[in-house]
Amino acid sequence: MTPAAPGDGWGFETAAIHAGQPPDPATGAVVPPISLATTFAQEAVGRHRGYEYARSANPTRTALETCLATLEGAGFGLAFASGLAAEDAVLRSIPDGGHVLLAPDVYGGTWRLLSQVHRERLRVSTCVLDDPRTLAAAWTDDTRLVWLETPSNPLLSIIDIATVAGLCHERGALCVVDNTFATPYLQQPLALGADVVVHSTTKYLGGHSDVVGGFLAVDDGALADRLRFLQNAVGAVPGPFDCYLVLRGLKTLGVRMERHCANAAAVVEMLCGHPAVSSVLWPGLRDHPGYAVAAKQMRGFGGVVSFVCAGGEAAALAVAERTRLFTLAESLGAVESLIEHPARMTHASAAGSPLAVDPALVRLSVGIETEEDLVEDLRAALDSVERAGAG
Ligand SMILES: *Cc1c(COP(=O)(O)O)cnc(C)c1O
Repeated sequence: MTPAAPGDGWGFETAAIHAGQPPDPATGAVVPPISLATTFAQEAVGRHRGYEYARSANPTRTALETCLATLEGAGFGLAFASGLAAEDAVLRSIPDGGHVLLAPDVYGGTWRLLSQVHRERLRVSTCVLDDPRTLAAAWTDDTRLVWLETPSNPLLSIIDIATVAGLCHERGALCVVDNTFATPYLQQPLALGADVVVHSTTKYLGGHSDVVGGFLAVDDGALADRLRFLQNAVGAVPGPFDCYLVLRGLKTLGVRMERHCANAAAVVEMLCGHPAVSSVLWPGLRDHPGYAVAAKQMRGFGGVVSFVCAGGEAAALAVAERTRLFTLAESLGAVESLIEHPARMTHASAAGSPLAVDPALVRLSVGIETEEDLVEDLRAALDSVERAGAG
């Protein structure tokens, strides 16, 4: 198991830089070595220093697991080869025939994993989670797990984690929170009562669009054992270089998130006043239905912004193709700004399902470039769509 103890009592930024990564005892190196060994010498049969074979444990991975567990306030952390590999481990931990309740607005790949890969083994239904009556109506005797994302993808809906976790515990199910959009800098679900935190470290935690990874943070030792068994038995583990890149990304997470949030606020202000935009979805807007809950459970409102184009799908596609600084690409959470069309890109696999999205929707991942440059780039693209529509 990976103890989180080294960072206890430290502030967030201190832990991000130091937890799990003291100077290397052998050389004094201030950066954890990328440990490539697949096997480790034993002093006697079965006597070793915690490492036997690198699928089971690897020193660079241990550093990442310790650091990120500390940032989530978790007793245990487990790194995976991708966010979906981490999600798969959580789903495999549920007994056959279990029922999974899902918020109506989650990452498209989560829906695909549940509805296609785990279809034979698990039953899944979607439900508005933080209304106790709808949750009670959707609940069945075999409901084992409730899965939510907040802020959600791509609609930026907010769910009250403490409320849902409380209802789960009354009824005996696990509450799983995908914390990819918020990161532990903005929101710590375990402290609000969640049982499992899921991450795609590919996004803000890596932060530089150069590594794919996933993570689970849990506080319960028995649950950690079960997930650790699956991590090793199924084997979807990250390589040491990938672990190193995520670990390096974590060091600047706090300052990056501050700038993501500030730039998003500036972009939102422009979008709200632009005639080509019919609505803006961002939890920092006072008229956003989740504003009060977001203000309570988050430290900032995040760097992802969605908006609906007044001109419908054609306008949304045109805006997505006309920005010059915002790059047309899937993914989110890195230093560079991205723009995408969820209905045809990230959420194409949800077409025709309860998770299908409005084709007039555009999603932005606001990066940490100069604020004015981002605002002007988007404004120019929207102006040109507005002129084309009017002409
Ligand atoms: C990207 C993403 C995932 C999946 O992670 P991968 O690293 O791409 O496998 C899961 N949840 C959310 C919210 C995501 O944005």
